[in-house]
Amino acid sequence: MDKESLRNDLLSRLSSLSNDTILSLSFSLTNQLIKLISSLPELHGQVGAGYLPLKDEVAPVYQELLRAVPLSLAFPILFEGEMLFGIPNGMPKGATWLEPPYHPAEPEWFLVPGVGFDLSGARLGRGKGYYDRYLEGKNFLKIGLAWSEQIVEKIPVEQHDCYMDFIITEEFCWDVNQQERF
Ligand code: ADP
Ligand code: MG
Repeated sequence: MDKESLRNDLLSRLSSLSNDTILSLSFSLTNQLIKLISSLPELHGQVGAGYLPLKDEVAPVYQELLRAVPLSLAFPILFEGEMLFGIPNGMPKGATWLEPPYHPAEPEWFLVPGVGFDLSGARLGRGKGYYDRYLEGKNFLKIGLAWSEQIVEKIPVEQHDCYMDFIITEEFCWDVNQQERF
């Protein structure tokens, strides 16, 4: 299947979820993420990147995450048509793009939203390539987050596509490099 058809297919799967289901998936996803980040103490002293979900998208519940692990998190901002990151004053507000006030930051690890992922770490985004461009040539740790129904057998990839190191769903943490769940 090509990227566009798979993207449409997965987006229609996501749009079938009720708000309550998204919220419950997001809480379970957060627990998996807390388990992963707790096992990677080297991340705790670095700025990480979160993301702000669109309506039909699972995402960490940041209040829960930050209560469990003290982290400094930046969020995407749009600057001259490209994605950069900013640290909000207080809890982040916005959908996709962080609302001011914030101050600029350069995160060193990334929570990456996706329309789909496969277990090789390949990612399908919404088709704008923001993360591919931002992360090109940088060797930062990338954690893809999604509902388990967004994990597919094979994501079609192009040369510019970035790969995840970990994939987290409401059901499991997947270590791409070790090819195992934990
Ligand atoms: P997404 O990752 O959001 O699903 P795609 O992988 O389809 O989107 O990329 C969308 C577009 O972004 C590509 O057609 C390409 O033109 C552009 N793009 C992505 N990464 C790069 C890059 N590293 N350099 C230049 N253009 C890029
Ligand atoms: Mg891509």
